[in-house]
Amino acid sequence: MKLTKQDIQQSTAKVYDTIVVGGGAGGLSAGIYLQRYLLDTLIIDKGKARSFWMQELHNYLGLPPDTPGRSLLRQGKEHYLSLGGDLLDAYEEEIFDEGETLTVGVKVGRTKSKYHTFRTKYLIAASGIIDYLPALDNMRNVYDYAGYNLHVCLICDGYEMADKKVGVFASSAANAEVIFPLGWFTNDITLFTQGLFEVNEDLRGKLETRGYQVESTPIKQLVGQEHQMTGVELIDERVVELETGLISMGSQYHSTYLDKFDLEKQGNNLVTDKMARTSHKRIFAIGDLKVGLNQVVIAVADGALAATQIWRDVRQRIPHYTKSA
Ligand SMILES: Cc1cc2nc3c(=O)[nH]c(=O)nc-3n(C[C@H](O)[C@H](O)[C@H](O)COP(=O)(O)OP(=O)(O)OC[C@H]3O[C@@H](n4cnc5c(N)ncnc54)[C@H](O)[C@@H]3O)c2cc1C
Repeated sequence: MKLTKQDIQQSTAKVYDTIVVGGGAGGLSAGIYLQRYLLDTLIIDKGKARSFWMQELHNYLGLPPDTPGRSLLRQGKEHYLSLGGDLLDAYEEEIFDEGETLTVGVKVGRTKSKYHTFRTKYLIAASGIIDYLPALDNMRNVYDYAGYNLHVCLICDGYEMADKKVGVFASSAANAEVIFPLGWFTNDITLFTQGLFEVNEDLRGKLETRGYQVESTPIKQLVGQEHQMTGVELIDERVVELETGLISMGSQYHSTYLDKFDLEKQGNNLVTDKMARTSHKRIFAIGDLKVGLNQVVIAVADGALAATQIWRDVRQRIPHYTKSA
């Protein structure tokens, strides 16, 4: 059930089998599997998942290719709640390792927040990432197009950019490298650096060889209408016409609550075994947070793997599980 302020007291008194941090694609999938394994589950979710921002899920077997992320989330939540799982709208702040259990500290309420702690045997980190966007004076102007024809994910949307005039918005030479796999889909690419980094000789040479343009003048605003970007106006008032765009500016990782565990990482991504377990035996990581492809289908599959491994662990200790055990 959706926990209200009144229910919280009861929930803080018990030990959950699993707490899932994040109710996006991965977290909801994990929650559905856990509840179907008859394990007591709490999903803590602050909302605004990356999947909520996804206007159309183009590549998920069985769903129409214009399915918005928000309907996936709505259905996932309803499904999870119908199986008796607990769901709390809250912000996960910190975790304490108590040996056999983990204590999870959360902030409930955006104003006049209250701090509560919950106990769990296992934790699944499903809190994802969020993409950095070009920092324009008027961010509303960026939100008007980001997630529509201004993409953030080449794997998701390369196909949508095929044979089109594409602007790539990067924040570093390393992020600009996305141009080369994008070159599989289209030849007409302009890299916008906004003066944020130098295009070194090596990169410039590679761009020139492929006939890609480089524009270093900062952007004044994106132009277009009805969520369709048609170009970019630069601060010197020139307008570069485009049909679509790709942002590659890195991401913020929602995993600070795990920092003190010093879990094994590759870059910012958590390293897991094939069942999504991190280097801590009671902490699993799924979806965009872990090493792998940032895709809904992967997050959903990770949720199934983590939940199944937790069920196996629990069964080893209690072969015939009862709710009171
Ligand atoms: C614009 C866009 C288009 C995309 N298109 C596609 C596509 O077509 N196909 C595809 O497969 N993928 C696509 N993706 C990628 C896809 O959205 C992600 O791979 C997927 O959502 C990852 O799922 P997740 O469960 O790891 O994270 P999310 O879905 O982001 O869920 C994480 C949840 O955790 C919550 N959270 C974070 N921190 C905390 C905290 N401290 N306490 C409590 N809750 C917290 C967040 O608010 C969020 O609700 C797209 C992404 C974007 C941004």
